[in-house]
Amino acid sequence: MKIPFTGGCMCGAVRYECAAQPLAMGNCHCRDCQRATGTAFAAAVVVPRGAVAITGEVNQILCSDRR
Ligand SMILES: [Zn+2]
Repeated sequence: MKIPFTGGCMCGAVRYECAAQPLAMGNCHCRDCQRATGTAFAAAVVVPRGAVAITGEVNQILCSDRR
């Protein structure tokens, strides 16, 4: 994966840049993720804390501190 990698929301109002290689990637099918996304699963990328810079007006950030 090319580092840094970037992305954002569909309308472009919120953008992110991650300066580290992901630690893990996957899809979670738990009830919390289904409710949070309104779909069958949530795609997740785990990166080191502090590696992500977010720009734009963010209304909500879902973050898990489970280790
Ligand atoms: Zn989940």
